[in-house]
Amino acid sequence: MWSLAERLPIADFHLHRCPPGLKRRLHLLVSTLPDGQPLAVPVLVARGRRPGPTLLATGAVHGDEYEGVIAIQDLFDELNTEEMAGSFVGVPVLNGPAFAAATREGAWDHLNLARVFPGSPDGGPSQRLAHAFQAHLLPIADLYADLHAGGNAYAIQELAGYMLRPDAVGERQRAAAVAFGLDLVWGTSPLPGRTLSAAADRNVPAIYIELRGEGRARPADVARARWGLSNLLALLGVLQGDYPREARLLIEDDSAGSGHLQLDHPSPSSGLFVPAVELWQPVAAGQPLGSVRHPDGTTLAVVRAARSGRVLLVRTQPRVFAGDTVAFVLAVPAEAGM
Ligand SMILES: [Zn+2]
Repeated sequence: MWSLAERLPIADFHLHRCPPGLKRRLHLLVSTLPDGQPLAVPVLVARGRRPGPTLLATGAVHGDEYEGVIAIQDLFDELNTEEMAGSFVGVPVLNGPAFAAATREGAWDHLNLARVFPGSPDGGPSQRLAHAFQAHLLPIADLYADLHAGGNAYAIQELAGYMLRPDAVGERQRAAAVAFGLDLVWGTSPLPGRTLSAAADRNVPAIYIELRGEGRARPADVARARWGLSNLLALLGVLQGDYPREARLLIEDDSAGSGHLQLDHPSPSSGLFVPAVELWQPVAAGQPLGSVRHPDGTTLAVVRAARSGRVLLVRTQPRVFAGDTVAFVLAVPAEAGM
């Protein structure tokens, strides 16, 4: 039903390289890494028998976030192109260098790919990946979903997020985040350098997904992400079927920097982080989130909640370095559902 992976320069990629009703696995060549190996992006194209819109999905923008990778692969395997009116284009691993290293950032430049968009064709590997993705893959999308997770060091309450904007694209983003089907939907103020900001520049409706993390890919979490992607295909009309139209908890926060998870509650010291809270637990301002210990057992610091709310993100990798976020507290009422 599909060819073996075909290699071609990313600038030569067009949806029509995959005939209607077929699936293709492609390796799109972006550049050459400093060691001479190709910098390539694997792309899975499932083109429906009938014409229609295109859903673009990416995984592993951060190399230690695995749930979305497997969900994209599984969905691609399961799609029946005879039933599709439109296309699914999945990029299971966008950040190959980071995935190879099993770390958040790639080892060549140690840049966070989710901070360098729109990138540059002349920069290091992360800059080139960002540039190639926004120039050659984003434009084919009618809707784009970027699948993230807590990664090796964190657990996060799963959510669908989007950047607030007061126009039809903003409405579309909210509807797509709800349609993905997770309990928590979170609209926040725009942040630069992201895949979502590159999509915004091109007026491509875009959402991001956060899945559990802890360096794992639990089968239930993968299945929920795969289901969410198929809901997006239903929202677009690529697949027949219904999709969620209401979230259990929808929060919109247009304050500056809302949605930036990696700045909250930085550890004042390197050491061993011992959490005192669990994911999604209600906490009061001032309540200990955890402590940082010296190897000899001395408590170096107690990190207290800066505000009341629920624990959206908590560090699960015990070794912590000064400045690392240990938790993010989302300001929601303790009685909020879920
Ligand atoms: Zn991520």
